[in-house]
Amino acid sequence: MARYTSAACRKCRREGTKLFLKGEKCYSQKCALSKRPTPPGQHGQSRQRKMSEYGLQLREKQKARRAYGLLETQFKRTYNRATKMKGVTGENLLQLLERRLDNVVYRAGFATSRAHARQLVNHGHFLVDGNKVDIPSFTIRENQVVTVRKRSHNLEHFKVVREGSSRIVPKWLSVDADKLSINVIALPERDDVDFSLQENMIVEFYSR
Ligand code: SF4
Repeated sequence: MARYTSAACRKCRREGTKLFLKGEKCYSQKCALSKRPTPPGQHGQSRQRKMSEYGLQLREKQKARRAYGLLETQFKRTYNRATKMKGVTGENLLQLLERRLDNVVYRAGFATSRAHARQLVNHGHFLVDGNKVDIPSFTIRENQVVTVRKRSHNLEHFKVVREGSSRIVPKWLSVDADKLSINVIALPERDDVDFSLQENMIVEFYSR
């Protein structure tokens, strides 16, 4: 599968906001954005010119796409799905992105980043309602339970997870670290997104 391979911190510097792509480093003083908040590249500092409306919309779309680690086609597919749902398209889009299985694993503190969560899901470590699911884009529904497969419990990574994480778990998830289980007690709301985003600009971008 194709994937974007450039340095993670460059993406945050390009978007001018923390996208939490590098695990624990993002929560420490080593965060590259804290040290160099300018856009990447030789002319990063001089590139601070006024952006057009289209440029602003494009940046918001790229910010969301990069934060959740999706390629353009995957992101567009999710957007198209959001347009067919009842309610506000921008909020539907954010809800669909938050409900991805890899995001749920990350937000529950079972992975250090969304990329790490995607890898863990791909390797078949998770069950949803008792059934193995190794598709990171799998959409989680309310009241579903995500657990770590029994034979993965002894992996060093999950032993660390069982000791508990300092990560703040969003209110729509209930985590039992000792049992390595995540209960989806509600659907995510707009305020549950953990970085700043103007989703209406993404809608305007695709409505051009
Ligand atoms: Fe790098 Fe994480 Fe900081 Fe982004 S938030 S610049 S990925 S350390």
